[in-house]
Amino acid sequence: MNYHIGTMLIDENFDGKCDCPLCRIKARVDQRLTESYLGEGVMEDNTRAEVNKLGFCDHHYSLLFASRSKLGLALQISTRLNTVLKEIKLPKNAKEAKKQGDAVLKLNETCVVCKYLDEHMIRYYKTVAQVYQNVASFKDRLLATHGFCLEHYAVLLKYSSCAGGKQKEYLADLYTVQIKRIEQLKKDVDEFTYHHDYRQVNNPLSQGAKDCLKETSNLFYGDKFKI
Ligand SMILES: [Zn+2]
Ligand SMILES: [Zn+2]
Repeated sequence: MNYHIGTMLIDENFDGKCDCPLCRIKARVDQRLTESYLGEGVMEDNTRAEVNKLGFCDHHYSLLFASRSKLGLALQISTRLNTVLKEIKLPKNAKEAKKQGDAVLKLNETCVVCKYLDEHMIRYYKTVAQVYQNVASFKDRLLATHGFCLEHYAVLLKYSSCAGGKQKEYLADLYTVQIKRIEQLKKDVDEFTYHHDYRQVNNPLSQGAKDCLKETSNLFYGDKFKI
C-alpha cells in the first residue's frame, strides 16, 4: 500500500447495505476532521493561520456550531474575522467596488475542513482500488454493494488505475453494481408513475417504488448521514 490510511473504514462500510459505502466513509472522516477543529490543536500557529486564510463553508460551520465547544468555534472565528475585516474597505469608485465585490465573494469559497476532507477522500478512492487488487475476497464485497452515488461512482472510475493489473476487472465490477442500481431505480420510478393511473389504485406499490424519490436523491446527491 502506498497510501497511509487504514483500510478499516473500507472493511466496515463495504458491508452489503443499501446505501453508498463511500458516503458513509466520508461522513465518518468528516466528523473526525471537524471535531479536530474544536480540540486543543486549533490554537497552534499553523492551524490558526490556515483558518484565517480559508475559513469554513456553511456545512462545516453548522457542524462546528452544533457541537458543545462554542468557545473553540468563537476563538477560530475571531481570527478569521480579522482576515474579513481587511477585505472590507470603502471603495473609491465603481471599478474598485466591482473588484472588492469579487474578493468578498471569494472569501466564502474556501473551507479549511473541506480542503483536508477532499485530500483524505482521494486517498480512500485510491485505496479501494488497491484493496481490490490486493485482497481477493474484496471482489465479492464490492459485488454485494448496491452501487454508489453518482459522485462516488465517478471518482472510483477516475482513480481505477490504482487497481493495477486488475483495473479491467475492477471497472467491470464497478459497472455491474452501478448499472444494476440505476436500472432498478428506473423500474421503481416507472412503477410509481404507472401506479398513479386510476385503474391501478388497488394494486399495492412495492417498497422500492415507495422509496424511489428518496433513492433518486441518494443517487444524484449522495446519502446524507448523521453520525
Ligand atoms: Zn456516495
Ligand atoms: Zn467545508
